[in-house]
Amino acid sequence: MRRLSNTMQNSLLPTQQIEELQQRLAVYQRREQDLKEREEMLQMAIDGTKLGTWDYHPLTGELNWSDECKHIYGLTGDVNINMDVFVEHIYPEDQVFVNRAIHKAMDPSGDGNYDVAYRIARFGDNSVRWINARGKVHFNRQKQAERFIGTVVDITDAKTAEEKNAKLAAIVDSSDDAIASKTLEGIVTSWNKSAERIFGYTAEEMIGQSILKIIPTDRQHEEAEILSKLRRGERMEHFETIRKRKNGELLDVSLTISPMRDSQNNIIGLSKIARDITEKKQEEVRKNDFIAMVSHELKTPLTSLRSYIQILLTKSKHDEEPFMVNALRRADIQTKKMTAMIQDFLSLAKLEEGKISLNKVRFDLSDLITEIAGDAQYFTSIHTIKIDTVPGVMIHADRDKIGQVLINLVSNAIKYSPKGGEVTVGFVLQDNDTKVEVYVSDKGVGIKPADQKNLFKKFYRVKNEEIKTISGFGIGLYLVAEILRYHNSEISVESQEGVGSTFRLQLSVA
Ligand code: ADP
Repeated sequence: MRRLSNTMQNSLLPTQQIEELQQRLAVYQRREQDLKEREEMLQMAIDGTKLGTWDYHPLTGELNWSDECKHIYGLTGDVNINMDVFVEHIYPEDQVFVNRAIHKAMDPSGDGNYDVAYRIARFGDNSVRWINARGKVHFNRQKQAERFIGTVVDITDAKTAEEKNAKLAAIVDSSDDAIASKTLEGIVTSWNKSAERIFGYTAEEMIGQSILKIIPTDRQHEEAEILSKLRRGERMEHFETIRKRKNGELLDVSLTISPMRDSQNNIIGLSKIARDITEKKQEEVRKNDFIAMVSHELKTPLTSLRSYIQILLTKSKHDEEPFMVNALRRADIQTKKMTAMIQDFLSLAKLEEGKISLNKVRFDLSDLITEIAGDAQYFTSIHTIKIDTVPGVMIHADRDKIGQVLINLVSNAIKYSPKGGEVTVGFVLQDNDTKVEVYVSDKGVGIKPADQKNLFKKFYRVKNEEIKTISGFGIGLYLVAEILRYHNSEISVESQEGVGSTFRLQLSVA
């Protein structure tokens, strides 16, 4: 602590005054120390926030930047900072409005506040960064801007995220599909313009409400199923269903629902895209009606053609005309193939419209298999159709439709074994004779594992050199799977390329 000199003490002032002065001096020194400490604390706090600070003296033109401020601007080493240098590093397109903001803050009739976000071209590499500058102008008694102090912070990351969000929001808003998000409890959290258009509810009417509002009463169970599937993290794609508009109208939609996750990968909600497929559905109905009508019309002349062929065949056999018998047999095979094809088209059209119904009867499975294998043998001379059954196993099912399943499987086995060989159709009893596993196996071209997964999809055909000349529509196995689904059963396949395939299905013994 500084002390007044002894000379001053002794010669000029009385002791009491000197003591008073010493006390005041001590108070000032304490305050100065306090101020310094506070300044240091403030600086520490500022350092921790990555805030740069600047201090401008408009009357002298002096401009000072803190280390963090220099760091944000990409400044290294000692550079003399002044207003010209500062303006030079504002991104050209932003210079006008930054200038305007500075002038506004320095206008003595205003509040002196300054808050502006702009781009800078950093020193050195000229890279562009977004910053937010805030400050306050202090005016002197003559209303002159005397000091202008403030902070800068780099907001590039936030700006980039904001731009990305804006882009995404624009995509979502301009989409023709309804896009919404909801919580895991089914409460709507966002609702885009197309959702408003398609469902007739505004975002205001839907956000915060249950999604059940747009689900018809008889379909509300679907929501629980969707939620439980999605909670397990699974996605749901092109799920075709029916939803309800605000005016009560029903519409066909295709839904794609995916889980939304936070940065820790926890599922925090669901995003849902709904496509209005009413038009497409109506088109499908028209197409199915057309297929059904054409198939039906083809059936009648084909049936009479087949009966004439049968009559001629009997006559030719009787007249012992081998050439005629052979030709008519071939004609008969072709008409049979055509009948099966038409039958498949009719079934497809019925299935699509949900018009398929089962006519269940009790019948001997072995009889049906023997019948079908016999017919199939008639079609081919290079394959041997083996039957592996025991008589008397009764099942309760739609005989014609199970017949259609077996015809499809056996004719595929023949078709996809172009070099011939053995085709076996049979069954084995299982589960104490309560179930029967029917199988059709061949020694044909076989199927790759990747194709095996898709075989039962509508119109799916394997693309492969070896079988590219074999014709078909890709509906046989789809029908097989659907008919079996109606019988609470399913089809499976085991296959190896170049070795052969075995198709299996299970039915209950009656
Ligand atoms: P299609 O035979 O009219 O193409 P399917 O739906 O009956 O239609 O069969 C779908 C596809 O599955 C076929 O294109 C074929 O590639 C494959 N496939 C079916 N059965 C067999 C089989 N037994 N062996 C090898 N490939 C088969």
